[in-house]
Amino acid sequence: MSETTETIFSKIIRREIPADIVYEDDLALAFKDIQPQAPVHILVIPKQPIRQLADADSQDRDLMGHLLLIVKNVAEKAGLSNGYRVVINSGSDGGQTVPHLHLHILGGRQMKWPPG
Ligand code: 5GP
Repeated sequence: MSETTETIFSKIIRREIPADIVYEDDLALAFKDIQPQAPVHILVIPKQPIRQLADADSQDRDLMGHLLLIVKNVAEKAGLSNGYRVVINSGSDGGQTVPHLHLHILGGRQMKWPPG
């Protein structure tokens, strides 16, 4: 991962590159993943560029709760009444490729366990 907090997601927030945005408020944005791994694959991100979950601290408590409630609402709006999976990849071993905290919502098919 790059060290910078300026990522492709910052550009999506600023509308410098296009994305299929499904939700936005003052603190967060949700948009469809460009390479979907399930029939529904949406990313929820804070507008504040926290690099990874491992960098979040107690000051981010409200924001983290806010992001989870957005996940719930966006999943509901996407029709995932049968369930869905929420994934946060943090850091290199976690498989994170974009260094801007994001929550994956995956749904529309049966998920497997354990993940790879
Ligand atoms: P990570 O691997 O960091 O957990 O997830 C990054 C996700 O961002 C990947 O699922 C990838 O497909 C998605 N992604 C990367 N670049 C873009 C982009 O430019 N637009 C959108 N919508 N998604 C992106």
